[in-house]
This record gives sequence, C-alpha cells and structure tokens, in this order.
Amino acid sequence: MTGAPEPEVQVLSTLNADGSRRWLKPKVSPGRFLNGRKVVGYALIAFFCVLPHLRINGKPPILLDLLRREFTFWGMTLYPTDTLLLALLMLFVLLSIIFLTAMFGRVWCGWACPQTVYLELVYRPIERFFLGAPGRKPKEGGWRQPAKFLTYLVISFLLANTFIAYFVGTDNLWRWMLGSPLTHPVPFLVMAVTTFFMMFDFAFFREQMCIVTCPYGRFQSVMLDRNSLIITYDPNRGEPRGKKRRKKNAPAGDVALKVIPDEPELGDCIDCKMCVTTCPTGIDIRDGLQLECVNCAQCIDACDSVMDKIGKPRGLIRYGSQASVIDKVKGNLLRPRTVIYPALLAALFGGFVFILLTRSEAYVSIIRQRGAPFALVDGDVVNAVTLKVQNRTPVDVEYTFTLPDVEAGEVEIPGEAFVVGSRETVSRPVRLVAPLGSFKTGARDIVVRVSDGQGFESDVTYRMMAPAPGRQRNSQENNTKEQGDD
Ligand code: SF4
Ligand code: SF4
Repeated sequence: MTGAPEPEVQVLSTLNADGSRRWLKPKVSPGRFLNGRKVVGYALIAFFCVLPHLRINGKPPILLDLLRREFTFWGMTLYPTDTLLLALLMLFVLLSIIFLTAMFGRVWCGWACPQTVYLELVYRPIERFFLGAPGRKPKEGGWRQPAKFLTYLVISFLLANTFIAYFVGTDNLWRWMLGSPLTHPVPFLVMAVTTFFMMFDFAFFREQMCIVTCPYGRFQSVMLDRNSLIITYDPNRGEPRGKKRRKKNAPAGDVALKVIPDEPELGDCIDCKMCVTTCPTGIDIRDGLQLECVNCAQCIDACDSVMDKIGKPRGLIRYGSQASVIDKVKGNLLRPRTVIYPALLAALFGGFVFILLTRSEAYVSIIRQRGAPFALVDGDVVNAVTLKVQNRTPVDVEYTFTLPDVEAGEVEIPGEAFVVGSRETVSRPVRLVAPLGSFKTGARDIVVRVSDGQGFESDVTYRMMAPAPGRQRNSQENNTKEQGDD
C-alpha cells in the first residue's frame, strides 16, 4: 500500500486504523539530495566493508575484541583497565551525537545511519528491481519474490560477516569460513543469528526500526530546539493548500493557473501529496516536526520537482530551523547548547588525550590466588599470587621483578624475568616468601618493582598475609617442637 496516511484516527504511520501493518512502498523522488545521499551512502558502505581488511600496526583500524577485552581504534588499543579512557571515549561519542542533533537535527539518520543507508540504497532498490517501482504496474513472474529473498539472503550474509569481522578480525573470520561449521559451532551460530536479524530487519521490520525501536529517534525532541536545522514545510508559504484550476483553454503543459474569485487565495502547496507518497516512514511533513521523520530529504526532492512544474520557487519544503521557517525570526547560532556542548567536548577530548599520553607502557597487577591466603613452609610465610603484566607497546618486552624496599633475603620473589609480546597480557603464578619473624602483625606491605631495563618502572604494592601474632607464637613453637622431634 502506498500513499498518504488516511485513517480516521491518529495511528502510527506504519499501522492501519485496525492495527494491521501498513506496508510502505515509497516512491523514489530523484533530485539533488537523493544524489548527494547516494554518494555519501555508497561511500560509507564501501568504507564499512573495506575497513576490517586494512591494518595499522598489524591490527585492523577498528577491532572490538570482546573475548580478549581489547578495543582497538586506529592503532590505539584500550583495555578494561583503561576504564577512564573508555568512559571518556563513550561520553565524547554520546555528547557529539547530542551536539550534532542540536545543530543539524537528525542528519545522521537521513545520511549516515546504516539502517537508512542499507534499507534505502540497497534493499529497496533490489525490491524495485525484481517487483517494479511503486505506482507502476508490478512486474510479472512467480519467480520474482523468491529471487528477491535469495538476493536479500546473500547480501545479509555478506553484511553479517563484515559486521562480525569488527569483533573477531578478518583472519579468524577467513579461517572459520574455510573450515567446517562443526569445528567452530559458536561463531557459526553467531553468524547465522546475525544474518537472520539482518533479513528480519531489512525484509520485514524496516522503517519500524526508526519509528518504534531506535532510542535516538525517541530522544530527538529533547535534543532539538527551535533553532536546530531540520527538514520542514513552510506553512506561511504553502497554506491554505489546495488544487488550483487550470485556465480555460490553456495549452497542455501550461502551468498558468487561475484563482476563482470566491475562493480564498491559495498558497503554493497544491496538495498533490507527492511529499507523502515518497516518505519512507509514511508521514506527512506538512503536519510539522514529527519523531518519525528521519530527515531523508526525499520530500524536499519531491516538492522541488512539483514547484519546478508549476513555476514556483523551490523550497516549500526545505532544510531550515523552526525559528526561521515557521516563526520567521532570524536563526540564533549562539545559544547555551551551542556553547556548552563544544566546551564539554573540548574538555573531554583534552582529558582523553592527556590520559592517553601519560598512561604507562605496561599495566602490572598482583592478584592473590584462590585458596588459603598464606602457607607456612619451614618457618617462612609463603603467599601464592598471580603476577599479571600487560605490554601496551608495539614491541616485545622482557620484564624483571625486584623488591626495592626490603633488605636482601628478607622477602624473596623467586622466578625469572619473562617476555611479554607486543600488546599481549601474560599471567604467571609466583610465590612471595618471607620469614615469619618479619611480620609484626598479621600482614605487611611489600613493593614489587617491575622494569624493562629501558626506562620503564612500575611499583606495585601488595599486602602479604601471615598468621595473626598469637597464632605466630604457636606456629613458631610448633616449628621448634617439630625441629626438636627431628
Ligand atoms: S518527512 Fe521528508 S525528510 Fe522526513 S522521513 Fe519523510 S520524506 Fe524523509
Ligand atoms: S509535494 Fe509540495 S506541493 Fe505537493 S503536497 Fe507536498 S508540500 Fe504540497
């Protein structure tokens, strides 16, 4: 079903009045904005598909390795231990979206969101290719529907694999693709589920993703103000809308119109509903700003072509702010949100860069092993710990471990130096040994110094546990007794 929303009661634009699905088949309106969106959209698709195959410092430009908990962005790898950096990065992205929306409305939705780009520039063109364009005679042939779905399936499979490559890397992906699914059932299942969801979304759910599911669309009303750039109909120019009558005996193609004397003078909108039949979310932009509008600019292209035909200036529907188009006041660029958001963004970016530049080359932690916190061995206290070193540099490094604050022989940290590969993490079980008599209480702090011999040093404080003082005496007596018995 195509065309204007005509139910008697106000319902969602994707529903009929009885609650059944209203299948939208928007007409394509060629024009300058559609051309621009095609250039941007196809460039983004190519970028999305090529990016996982590129390498910077041996890694893809973007790799969100959830299993190893490493997040790589253009040669920079963040780990879960970089909590502050990750938090700043996420805040920066979130605030950028809010700022972009405050300035340019839903430009992201119409021009760059994968949902819009794939639906309008990949899946709908495939549908039109097999079944015919909306408003025209449908193409005949029972094979067309299965062929359309088969093409959808192939595209969804390729997109799903590309999407997964951002999480596992192309090397793993190739290995899995060339092997039997039985050797890697979990990745195969993930790929199958992702393909299924792509098919479900682009073949069935479609614009409902923007209207019903996407939280960004729901939040837009709080992010916009009357000075934000949106796509809007100019009611001052278009109303009252209505069809104008052609002059009697006017030659075919003559756009000269006459106004009947007892009719009110009509605005420029001839109520042709071209802007409605082309809308991929099924709304009428003349009803004002609506959360269903994804700012795809198809209604601008449609209306501009109508204005060209009737000899009126373009721009009855256009990019503009509510303040400038509807209130007819001059737009205000300098307003609280256009000052506060950039200031916060600059602060977040500055903080991110500072922390990134000053973060250490390696992250070292000492973790107490499971089980008893200490053991007594030949009168010494032994603490079993795990020494974990994360090498954040682009080269392999050999790390050594010393105890700078204790006298020689007082506490021992047996074990040699070990090498940690570039951007790898190595965990080693280590036993910290100290004489029982060196504990004044049931615990003592020691500092473990990790160094690479090239200038990097990191001191990690660890609390060694021992028996409480009362129990220490018993332990010593038992020790002495055991030695006497011997
Ligand atoms: S109202 Fe216009 S800009 Fe908004 S979604 Fe519909 S066609 Fe696109
Ligand atoms: S396309 Fe333009 S003229 Fe036609 S109904 Fe929409 S706003 Fe009016």
